[in-house]
Amino acid sequence: MDKQQEFVLRTLEERDIRFVRLWFTDVLGFLKSVAVAPAELEQAFDEGMGFDGSAIEGFARVYESDMIAKPDPGTFQILPWRAEAPGTARMFCDILMPDGSPSFADPRFVLKRILARTSDLGFTFYTHPEIEFFLLKDRPVDGSRPTPADSSGYFDHTPQHVGMDFRRQAITMLESMGISVEFSHHEGAPGQQEIDLRYADALSTADNIMTFRLVMKQVALEQGVQATFMPKPFSEYPGSGMHTHLSLFEGDRNAFYESGAEYQLSKVGRSFIAGLLKHAAEISAVTNQWVNSYKRIWGGSTRTAGSGGEAPSYICWGHNNRSALIRVPMYKPGKTGSARVEVRSLDSGANPYLAYAVLLAAGLKGIEEGYELPAGADDDVWALSDAERRAMGIEPLPQNLGEAISLMERSELVAETLGEHVFDFFLRNKKQEWEEYRSEVTAFELKKNLPVL
Ligand code: GLU
Ligand code: MG
Ligand code: MG
Repeated sequence: MDKQQEFVLRTLEERDIRFVRLWFTDVLGFLKSVAVAPAELEQAFDEGMGFDGSAIEGFARVYESDMIAKPDPGTFQILPWRAEAPGTARMFCDILMPDGSPSFADPRFVLKRILARTSDLGFTFYTHPEIEFFLLKDRPVDGSRPTPADSSGYFDHTPQHVGMDFRRQAITMLESMGISVEFSHHEGAPGQQEIDLRYADALSTADNIMTFRLVMKQVALEQGVQATFMPKPFSEYPGSGMHTHLSLFEGDRNAFYESGAEYQLSKVGRSFIAGLLKHAAEISAVTNQWVNSYKRIWGGSTRTAGSGGEAPSYICWGHNNRSALIRVPMYKPGKTGSARVEVRSLDSGANPYLAYAVLLAAGLKGIEEGYELPAGADDDVWALSDAERRAMGIEPLPQNLGEAISLMERSELVAETLGEHVFDFFLRNKKQEWEEYRSEVTAFELKKNLPVL
């Protein structure tokens, strides 16, 4: 048994923890959990816990359903909302096949596989997510409109709204689980919150995002409201993005940074951005995986509603341009050696393991193939006409999930990164979602047509 495993077993005893939850994530990004008694844990560390993979979305077919969840002791944390003794703790798991090899269906493995390749190239991949979500008074399941939990706006600081207490409790809980928070504020729409996590390696970030979503839902319930990560719950308000700042390090040197270069961006940084741009459309089905995701990207009328309607629709990069898909944040004088890129397409409903895997793959491709960075866009690209954008070589992101799926289907990069199993399952699942949506008569059509036709 290694030191981390010993630490876990000792802590269980000292802290009187009687339940250990083993966590993993399905292909669509939903958290799964199985509880084991501490007495079983030593064996779980050795051999893992068996479960029926065919019952998990995207994992296995019925005839090859035996799978194993093996806890990663480095992710051990006590759950603070189960603080009263006897306590509960959790660990993230790696999913294995019965012969002990990694399961190709495990999103965590998909990310680990490309991180290993990244490290062979001499890089470490760091991520810093800005997570937006809504607090609602209710969560209707019949398709009717929810009610935001408050009526505040961007950066509002009003004592009577639920957000402030909520954020204080939520952040305290995250910190007690080892997840550091950098900023938090009320976002542009009523009920909308943003909490930004401190940068960490991409695997820890993805684990942290899964924990984050659960913690937000938990704290919301305690305060009598509901948290949702749906990309665009309201037509008239901005949606919830999960902008992520990316950087590559070589040892302790930021590989995107070059002193004196334009925007302090190195050749590696420029090619990485070029890769993100070139492959942006084909990876959209992964970074923006729901029918609803495209309502956020194309939610035109909400762009004027405060400063929060700034979801990107066009594939371009800019310096301090919030209409761009990729933003190179302002260089902070005095912060020598720092450079990063902010990807703004990603939304809060994505599977973070798969989304970070495809973003990294796109950036690495740019570096490996030495892509040239096209000129940046300094204009507000929404304000340009289609013809102007075309003249500048600026293409739109996919208009809807159907288009995103067709582009992904032809993408070697996505097929390679996700691996055959996840690639096939994902496409099958998303085609079905798109077909269901396409055949639905919506409230829009009824409102538009029924009174006049
Ligand atoms: N809510 C916006 C989005 O959907 C982002 C607002 C911001 O710039 O933080 O991407
Ligand atoms: Mg924001
Ligand atoms: Mg941002």
